[in-house]
Order: sequence, then C-alpha cells, then structure tokens
Amino acid sequence: MTLNILFAAKAERWTGYEQPLTDALTKALAGRDFKLATKFAPEEVDYIVYAPNSDLQDFTPYTRAKAVLNLWAGVENITGNETLKIPLTRMVDFGLTHGMVEWVTGHVLRYHLGLDIDITRQNAKWEPRSQPLARDRSVAILGLGALGQAVAKALVGLGFNVSGWSRSEKTVDGVRCLHGDAGLTEALKSAEIAVLLMPDTPATQNVINAETLAQMPKGAFVINPGRGPLIDDDALLAALDSGQIAHATLDVFRVEPLPEDHPYWAHPNVTVTPHIAAATRNDTASEVIAENIRRSEAGEPLLHLVDRDRGY
Ligand code: NAP
Repeated sequence: MTLNILFAAKAERWTGYEQPLTDALTKALAGRDFKLATKFAPEEVDYIVYAPNSDLQDFTPYTRAKAVLNLWAGVENITGNETLKIPLTRMVDFGLTHGMVEWVTGHVLRYHLGLDIDITRQNAKWEPRSQPLARDRSVAILGLGALGQAVAKALVGLGFNVSGWSRSEKTVDGVRCLHGDAGLTEALKSAEIAVLLMPDTPATQNVINAETLAQMPKGAFVINPGRGPLIDDDALLAALDSGQIAHATLDVFRVEPLPEDHPYWAHPNVTVTPHIAAATRNDTASEVIAENIRRSEAGEPLLHLVDRDRGY
C-alpha cells in the first residue's frame, strides 16, 4: 500500500523541502511506494511532517497516522496539544547542530577576546592589552542535550574551561557535568560566560533570574540561543544596568519578532539577533525525517522521540 506523507508547514517551506524530502524518502524507503503532498484526506495520512506554526492544529481526524515528525528542534508549541495522541519526534540534524556550534563559538570568542574593543574604537589610542587564553576562561553551558553537548565539546576543543548543567546526570569528555539545583549554583558560580541551550518547559522558565544572575561572577556574559522564557527579562535588564552582567547576546525572545519598543533593542549592552543561531537545513533534515519513517515501517524505535510529560 502507498504510504501517504503529509507535509504540514507553511507554503514557503514546501518549496525548499519538496525535492530533498522526495530524494531522501526514495533512498530510505528503497522501492516502497509513497506519496508526499501538502494535502490528503486526513484519514488517509500515514505520517505528518510538521512545523508547529502550520495550520494543522487538530490531529483528531488523522486516524491512520503513525507519527508526527517535527521539522523544528523546539517542541514547546506542540507538546501541550491534547489532540496529538501518536508519537512525536523533534529535529536533531547535522546542519542544525553545526550551525549552533558555529554561532555559539563565534559569540563566546567575541566576549573572550574582547573583540568589540578594537572593532568599535573611535579614537587613535594605541592601548595594548594582555589577552587571556581559553584555558583561563570558564564557560557554563546550561542544557547538555544534542546542541549543548556539541557546543561544549567544541569549546573544550578550543581549550575553554567548560561546565555543563542538565536535568539528569551526564558524562561528557572534558566537561565538568553538573545537575540538580546545587549543580546549577555550582555551574554559575564560576561562569564568566553562560550559554543557555535548554528547551522551554514549565521547569526551565526563568531559570535565569535575579537570584541565579547574582550567583555569576560580576561582569559575566550571557548568551541565549535556547528559548526566550529561560530568562526573566526584567531581572536581566536590572543585572545589565548594575554591571553584574556586562553584556548579553540574545537570539530568542518571549515574543518574536522582538517588538520594536522592547528595551533590549536600545540597551547598549545587549546584542539582539533575530532567531538565527541555527536553522534546520532542508537536505540534512530530510534525511532525518526519511530515516524515522523507514524505522517506523521496519518496527524500529524512532529517533529523537519527545517525552510529552517532560515537555522536550
Ligand atoms: P535536547 O537534546 O532536548 O537537550 C535539552 C537539554 O536541556 C538536556 O540536556 C536536558 O537535560 C536539559 N534540560 C531540560 N530540562 C531541564 C531542567 N529542568 N533542568 C536542567 N536541564 C534541563 O535539546 P537540543 O536539541 O540540545 O536543543 C535545545 C534547545 O535549543 C531547543 O529546545 C530549542 O529551544 C533551542 N534551539 C534554538 C535554535 C535557534 O536557532 N535559536 C535552534 C535549535 C534549537 P537532560 O539531558 O537531563 O534531559
């Protein structure tokens, strides 16, 4: 029987995905008949390739569907959907991971090397300064999942002194791995640069707040490519104003696009980037989706399955 695969995302995404997804499915399903389209009778759909901002929000009529395969890494806008009763996977792919490693490394090096001093200099003052080595700089990665671990390993490779914090206990080569409330305090205590790579769940909201910001060394830096709600914005703004936090680079926000009148835009010690840290790449993401459909059809466990109770 033909497998019907529904592509449920914004129309402009279809243009980019139609060919790579067709190619990846043809390869992964090796001869199995499939139809990939943006429209089917709901009861005839076997798999749903999905973006949470698509028009499809009620999964009830999709009675034959075996899984929803999310094109995004973040699943906060779908885990609470009561109509979704079938397995949900999220996106972990080569392009996304490497994009994040490069973005975070760039911003960590900006802070570590004080690049702004030379780039923004307006006078002709020749003022040499001593540059610390990475081994003298402590970085904390909050969230040691697919992205956090890749970032941590890259920073360890550059010589940084890296701590990582996660919900459950972890071992990552070269990284001081911490977990639990005490672990967070320990990670932040020495964090001259904190990188947030956790999902948005009820348990992670406002993890960066007045109390945790005060635990960081004075003049520390915050980099957030995770999700906006991880930060209590008022607390961060107060910490920036007092100098407790020297500068923040924020890629994600509670409201996106970040409203024009939001104080982050005008703050001299905030760099806003428009949710560009890591994009899903059509070619590599298509391979992940196709592999999961192959697995499902072969009765093998799905990759990157979301735990709906945990919220990620
Ligand atoms: P992941 O593999 O699910 O990893 C999440 C990490 O966060 C895990 O280490 C997890 O701990 C930890 N965590 C979750 N809840 C926690 C809690 N209550 N306390 C402490 N640690 C907790 O996710 P990922 O693929 O690395 O992605 C992380 C996030 O990055 C995504 O959820 C998304 O929001 C964001 N993202 C942003 C962009 C962008 O362009 N800005 C792109 C892609 C992704 P355990 O290991 O113990 O489970």
